[in-house]
Amino acid sequence: MPRRIPEPPFELADLIPEFAELARETTLLYPRSGDPDVRESSIGGPLLWPAAESWPYCGQVGHWAPGPGLVAGGVITPGVVPMVPVVQLYARDVPRLVFPEGKDVLQLVWCPLLHPEDPAGAALPRLYWRTEAEVDAVEVLRDVPESGEDECDEDLMPRPCTVCPTPAVDYPKRDLPRELELALGPRLREIENRFGCHYSDVASALQNKVGGYPAWAKAPNWPHCSRGHRMEHLLSITGEPRSGRWLPLDEHHPHSTEPLWRSPADPAVMDSLGPDMHLGDEGGIYLFLCRACPELPYAHRFDCY
Ligand SMILES: [Zn+2]
Ligand SMILES: [Zn+2]
Repeated sequence: MPRRIPEPPFELADLIPEFAELARETTLLYPRSGDPDVRESSIGGPLLWPAAESWPYCGQVGHWAPGPGLVAGGVITPGVVPMVPVVQLYARDVPRLVFPEGKDVLQLVWCPLLHPEDPAGAALPRLYWRTEAEVDAVEVLRDVPESGEDECDEDLMPRPCTVCPTPAVDYPKRDLPRELELALGPRLREIENRFGCHYSDVASALQNKVGGYPAWAKAPNWPHCSRGHRMEHLLSITGEPRSGRWLPLDEHHPHSTEPLWRSPADPAVMDSLGPDMHLGDEGGIYLFLCRACPELPYAHRFDCY
């Protein structure tokens, strides 16, 4: 069931019609710690993986085990570190996501180690599209290889979470064109003065989601495929809102005197929010896809403050 979220205190496109054409459909995932099954959409949960297909390992040369703090530890031999499950989405749960023909399961794994030499800076995600019925027809992998504790960076290890895909409308924050931001300046400041918040606090969903705008922490850096097509945003893996307009109604603090669109989370649910990773300071990993190319190339970006 989709989560119910507070009504925004204003409809951005009503106040500033120029935003109407920038509105994008998104599906918010709302990962919460739990025990998802292989048959469920999840973040950090078990994947519907055919037993006959080898589990992926990171083959990166020169990547590093975590050391104390942000210091890299020892060099790890390439090819020995199993990837970890990050996302599984069944088409039935995310009707707004267009799957390749004949496919109905999206799976994302990544490497739980530091990759200081990777230009995108993190994780090296791999994306798989599957057909549920095809995996059903064969045996599902039960014994997924796991990294030893010393060999993975917990900051890149999502804890198992169930998800509640929730359709919403997303507006650009970092992706707002600079010229438009300048042109709209007086009206944006009017919103700030009237509601005491930046427009993006209630209009931009900076959280785990499919589609919409990437939840950039910093300036946008959209990838292009090797044929020069600008890729589309597939999904963002990042933190979860702990207050405000994007926090589901039933998770707000029961005694807060703030309006719902800005009230904090209930302390009782605070520990369940999100996959419990620390992708830098308020950072995220964003996946992109080129649908113009038949092989559906993908790319990722990582950013943080
Ligand atoms: Zn690796
Ligand atoms: Zn392309």
